[in-house]
Amino acid sequence: MLRAADISVHYGGVYAVKKVSFELREGEVLGIVGPNGSGKSTLLNAIGGLTRSSGSLDIDGTAIPLNRPARPRRAGFLRTFQTPQVFTELSCIENVMLSASDRRGIGLLGSFLSRPFMWRSERARIDNAKAALDRVGLGHLANRSAEGLAYGQNRHLEIARAIAAKPKYLAMDEPSAGLNQVETSALANLIKSFAADGVTILVVDHKIDFLRGICSRMLVLQLGEVIADGSPDEVFANPAVVDAYLGV
Ligand code: ADP
Ligand code: MG
Repeated sequence: MLRAADISVHYGGVYAVKKVSFELREGEVLGIVGPNGSGKSTLLNAIGGLTRSSGSLDIDGTAIPLNRPARPRRAGFLRTFQTPQVFTELSCIENVMLSASDRRGIGLLGSFLSRPFMWRSERARIDNAKAALDRVGLGHLANRSAEGLAYGQNRHLEIARAIAAKPKYLAMDEPSAGLNQVETSALANLIKSFAADGVTILVVDHKIDFLRGICSRMLVLQLGEVIADGSPDEVFANPAVVDAYLGV
């Protein structure tokens, strides 16, 4: 379980996220919704250690210090961004291989001396990246430059990169943005297949039908605070949630 407590982020005197607490339970797909500017991306940034925040975070019973991006990453928390982070100077497969880097650290000389072993390990990394690309439907573009991919393809490339690192927890920031209805329902199936593989998922999105189809539980944020937490039906029957949406 990932447990966040009293997470706050402020920019100047303004709180973007204010004392948000939630649990992401093993095996679930948790949705986060809220009007624009309600702090959804900032909350993911805080959990991922990418923005200065206060509060506490615990992953699988281990306290994870905030403001240290390597720590949640090492605990198995990976994420995708609202604006896909793609390196256009690399090929698609190289973009994916970035997340499953070679961490044995045996150095240049060691690598040279153990070339057959190194080649096997490199082969395994390539196969793993290729499998991740196949999984998101981009296998045919593996050796193509990531420059000039369509918007939806950039999103999928980023998902492939996260999946290639074998996350235990995967957070996605508006994965359906810019996708049409057919692509959105394919994305829903893809996310369900990750969940079926045992990945615990946190998904921020605006498309309510999409979230209803995949989430077992939802959090609603408004002005940086949690205003509802429950099953999709409970949450959307909540007058405060209806108000937050009609107020936009
Ligand atoms: P959401 O993802 O729900 O649309 P954000 O988390 O992006 O919302 O933003 C929450 C609030 O924090 C907004 O008012 C936004 O303007 C503000 N904010 C986000 N990032 C910054 C930043 N780097 N500097 C100042 N204000 C920011
Ligand atoms: Mg956002």
